[in-house]
Parts: sequence; structure tokens; C-alpha cells
Amino acid sequence: MLTIYRRHLEDTKANPPVLRCLGKLKARGLSTAEIGVYRRCSCPLWIMGTDPRGEYHRRSLSTTTWATAEGEKQRIEAGEVARVEIVSALDAWLAALRSAKRKERTVTQVHGAMANSLRQWCADAGYTHLDKLETDVLDKWVNGWKYATTTHRSRIDLTRSFFKFCVKRKWLDDNPASGLLKPVNDQEPTLPFTQDEEDKLFSAALRFHERPHFDGVWAKHPETARAMLYILRWTGLRASDAFAFEPRRITTQIVDGTPVNAYATHQGKTGDWVFCPVPPDVAEIIKSAPRLCDASAFLPPDSWGVATDVRSVSNGFYTTYLGPLGILAGVSRVHAHRFRDTFAVRLLAAGKPLELVQTLLGHKSIQTTEKYYAPWVKSRQEALIRDMASMWR
Ligand SMILES: [Zn+2]
Repeated sequence: MLTIYRRHLEDTKANPPVLRCLGKLKARGLSTAEIGVYRRCSCPLWIMGTDPRGEYHRRSLSTTTWATAEGEKQRIEAGEVARVEIVSALDAWLAALRSAKRKERTVTQVHGAMANSLRQWCADAGYTHLDKLETDVLDKWVNGWKYATTTHRSRIDLTRSFFKFCVKRKWLDDNPASGLLKPVNDQEPTLPFTQDEEDKLFSAALRFHERPHFDGVWAKHPETARAMLYILRWTGLRASDAFAFEPRRITTQIVDGTPVNAYATHQGKTGDWVFCPVPPDVAEIIKSAPRLCDASAFLPPDSWGVATDVRSVSNGFYTTYLGPLGILAGVSRVHAHRFRDTFAVRLLAAGKPLELVQTLLGHKSIQTTEKYYAPWVKSRQEALIRDMASMWR
């Protein structure tokens, strides 16, 4: 039997919460059973129960009007409501991504991998229809994942974007994946390189070919990889922006009668422009390094048959270049982000203000800069030392 009921709106998560229907009914002293059958509000109508063919339903009827809900219930009982199958929804999603001219490799390897995983799990667990995939069902699927934290988090993002697509196509009323929890990002906070570590890394970059058992794009183009190290260290750009770096766009400006190299770029993460002055010798290294192709200095061309999106290239740079380079140099945990940290901390150690670092790093708010770099502000360190030293005398 199918039953129509109102799913009362829950209070907001704000502090203090804004009372909505559910909270108000509780405040009036209604029991859970009474709340379950309470109808004199305008909360969304849902249906629950088994239809005459033995199929279980529990979903929103996309209405708050009782008469509309009754009509919808009759159509469900008569088997007139077309239900979308999970496999066809996944196929439609992948097809839509391809129509939007997303890169085929990304659609296959990233979206396709997530689609295959969900398709396989649903087949095994006996789920056919999209409306059956509620949050608690998805939780069981996620529970079987054995990914590293970063991959796990990005899989949840992908899952959310698939269900968001389903909501937009009006196959679902709300996104069941929005209730999934993400594991805490367990990446350790990074630290800048010491001057000694920095020297070792840049000198190892000149001997990268001494690690012959490493293959791939960067082993074949060590000069280009070395130029990327200089970009990371001397512009402070995020890796995601650094791989899109275009040496042809380095401009020369005359400041106080001296020519200065500068580079302006649109930040992928925030969409804001950031402007980076580049030291002369660094600009020379960047400009003279061989480009990977005419279209891009640091992204390989499609014809090489390797991933060409910024994210994959930057991940590949970590595994096939920074990792081996760290071993060669004897420096541990060499991540692209540490060059950005080093860039920021060297400026602060030289007595430059936090606001300058904020501008150069392209942080929208000074709070972000504070959070990561406040301990390195020279004047603050000195003030702390004076305070402490006055007690030691
Ligand atoms: Zn209500």
C-alpha cells in the first residue's frame, strides 16, 4: 500500500537554528507519531510503501498540494510513472559531458571510472532505479571504497556532480550525495624548504638524467622540468596555475628606470588575476627552456597519448619528477606546494609585510595568509624574542 505523508522541513543548521515546521511541531509538544500524520502545513508531500506490483517506493512527489499528490499516487499505482534506470542516467551523464566537449580522456578515466564503479555496485547490490539511491544506500557503496583520502574526496565530488545532473534533468528531487560525508583532508601542513634543501634541489635538477630508470615526459625534458621548479619557487603560483604558465607572456616593464620582467595570470582557483614580478635570471631560464609543444610550454600535446589536463600533468610531475628529484637531492617530501610556501616565507623573513605576500599569492582575504604564514612574519618573531629575552636576563 502507498501512503502519502508530509516530510516536515527540518530546522536550519545555523546557530541558533531557525525553527522550521519540524521544530515548531516539536515545540508544540507533538509526539513523533503525531508529527508523522500531521498535514496542516505546506511541507513537501512524499509517498512511501509498496505498489500493486510489489515495488517499494519512498520519494518526494514534488508537490505540496494534496490533490496533486493523490493524482500522482494513482499514476504510480497504475504503473504510469516512468522511472529512470541507474545505467541510463549514468550513460546520459557521460554523453552530456562529451557533448560539452570535455576531454575524452578525462571523461573516460575520471567520470567513466566513477560511473563504472557505481554501475557495478548497483548491479551486485540489486539496485536498478535511480530513485532508490538514497543517501543511506550511497553510504553503503562508499563504505566499500578503498581509496586514498584525496581520491576518496574527489570521488565524492564526482558522485555529487552526477546526482546534481540527475536533479537538473528532473529525474530526482534532491541530491542524495549531498548528504555524504568527506574524510578529513589528512595532508600534513607543509613547511618551506630550508636554504640548504633549496640549493640541493636546484643543483639536483641539473643532474636529473642521472636517474636513468625513470621514464616519462619529464625524464625526456629535464630542462623544461627545471624551468617549472623555478616558476614554482619564484612566482609562488599554485601548481594548477604554474602548468598553464606561458613564457611568451612574460612582459618587460620599466620601473624606476630599470627593466623588470613580470607575468600576469588568471588564477584557476579563485578566478582573480595575480601579478608576479620575475627575477631577471629566472625569467631567462624559463624563457630559454624547450617548450613541450607550440601550444603550451608545460602541458604535453594530445598527440603524445598522455594526460594533458593541468591536474593530471601536475600529479604526474609529482610522481615522475619531484619524487625522484627529492631522492637524488636527499630532500624528503618534495611537494609543489612547498615551493609556494618557500616563496612566501622568504619574503616574510626579509621583513616584507603580510599584505604583500597576500597580494602575490592571490589570497582573497588576509585571514588565509595569516593562517598559514603569520609565524614567519619577522617583526612578530622579533617581538616574541624580545618578550622572552627580557625574562632570561
Ligand atoms: Zn510541516
